[in-house]
Parts: sequence; C-alpha cells; structure tokens
Amino acid sequence: MNAKATIVIIEDESTIAENLIHVLEKDGFKVCWFPTGEQGLAFLTENIVDLLVLDVGLPDVNGFELCKTIRDFSDLPIIFLTARNDEIDRVVGLEIGADDYVTKPFSPREMLARIKLRIKRAIKHSTVVENKQAIEYPLNGGLQPLNFDYSVDGQMLGLTAVEFKILNKLINDSANILSREQLLVAADLAPSAAYERNIDSHIKAIRCKLKPFELSEFVKTKRGFGYFYSEKLV
Ligand code: CA
Repeated sequence: MNAKATIVIIEDESTIAENLIHVLEKDGFKVCWFPTGEQGLAFLTENIVDLLVLDVGLPDVNGFELCKTIRDFSDLPIIFLTARNDEIDRVVGLEIGADDYVTKPFSPREMLARIKLRIKRAIKHSTVVENKQAIEYPLNGGLQPLNFDYSVDGQMLGLTAVEFKILNKLINDSANILSREQLLVAADLAPSAAYERNIDSHIKAIRCKLKPFELSEFVKTKRGFGYFYSEKLV
C-alpha cells in the first residue's frame, strides 16, 4: 500500500536520522532527510510528501514555528520528535496541528508503526472527503456563513457576534484542536486565564443553537486541550 510513500525527516542529529532512515527504507518507504528547518521547508513547498517527522529542537528554527508555517499550506501528517517527555510540548504540538509526537530516545520500530498508522488514516480521510464530494454532501453540515451569522437550509442560527467568531474559527480551522486562549483571541476577547472559562459557556450556547438542526455534535470537546469542529460522528 505505502511502498512508494515519501517520508521527510527534519532532524539535525544524524545518528537519529540514520537509524530511522534505515528502518523506513527497509520497509519500502522513500525517505528524504534534511538537517535544518530551512532545507526541509524548501523541499516541502515544492514536493508532494506523505508524512513529516519533525524535530522540535532544530539549529535554525523552532520545530513548533516550522509546523505552523507548514500548516499554512499543507495538511500532511506531522509527527513531532521531542527531546523531553514534557506535557507542555505535547499540548503545544497537538494544538498547532501535529498529528502525533514521539519522545527521544525512541525505538525506530515504534516510530515505523506510528508512521504507518498516520499514513493509513490520512488515506482513509481523503477517501471519505472524495466520497462526500461525489454525492454532493453539503460541506459543514449545510452551515453557510451569512451576515456574521450562520444559516442552515435558509434558517439563521441567531448567533451573537462572539458566538459567530468562535464558530467561524472552529469551522475554518477544523484541522486543529483550538485552545480556549486561541478561541478568545479569535473572538477579539482578552486572552486572559480569568476569561478562558467564558469560552465554555459560549460553546454551550453555540451547541444549543445547532441542536435543532442536529449539528451540535460537530462542535467537539478535546478534554485537556480545547475544542474542534468535525463532522465525524466518532
Ligand atoms: Ca535536535
């Protein structure tokens, strides 16, 4: 299935990269390795790649920053390599759009298993999207933005300005889990910890307005992280 899948590794430690390349190539992957963020980014902007393994601690750029830049133009699966078994790294990594993370030192076999899983899921996801388009499945459950509100089948939800900004952010950034802080910023509210719980009540109100259209389950909670928009029922 993935005999010709291309994996890019951006990692400055050659020993780590070489071990990984060995295991991946043995399994039939095509591997391109870059020791700096700049070189890796240049390659990614010009080539179609199936998955990226991205080191957080690179010599020229922070891996998190690089991930954000890549997310502006690509939704390829990204697995972070982090030196510390740090909850903050994990949360930040997933919030800015990584799909998974692996802590060093890691077993190349384990990494291989994770890479295969992520590629399989990405293929599955793109098949689902294609099928949806083929049967003209309405995007966003039929939700249409109109005059700073959303409508479903011509009926307005009656969102407040803040609720509109939050739902709009969730829909337009549906590849990512968004923290309460990010949602506060999107809603032009002060990103202060004291106000973060306000987001929960706005989300509750949004779900309530989506409920008559059976769309409330699309606004999902990721416990410990924040919220995201997905039309998948699981
Ligand atoms: Ca490093």
